[in-house]
Amino acid sequence: MLKAMAAELNCNACRNRVGLASMRYSKDGKGLICESCYNKQNSGVSIKIKQQEFSRPIDTSPKKKVEFYCRNCSFKWSRALDFRGPKLCPSCGRDTIMYNLPNDADELLRELDRMDDV
Ligand SMILES: [Zn+2]
Ligand SMILES: [Zn+2]
Repeated sequence: MLKAMAAELNCNACRNRVGLASMRYSKDGKGLICESCYNKQNSGVSIKIKQQEFSRPIDTSPKKKVEFYCRNCSFKWSRALDFRGPKLCPSCGRDTIMYNLPNDADELLRELDRMDDV
């Protein structure tokens, strides 16, 4: 009976009594913790990273369409505003492109232009 008691320790995280064989050293310096708490620590890190990856596409999901118009050949087309925008007309190949932007999108396009300068 006494031997069995000695082989158990309190987990420093959840305070449950756990057999010494399933104790682990905590990564955040708490000392010995049980196996399930150790697994929670490790999986908690990866869950946080996954949530950050998830929030990104949600923020940018409403894609704005931008209409382009070529002054040279009058060619018209539209693309989603999630790429840098064309420099040359796909029809005649000249850089005479006009942008027809929704009102709140010109700030976004300035961002895109600045990316091109780098
Ligand atoms: Zn525990
Ligand atoms: Zn053109």
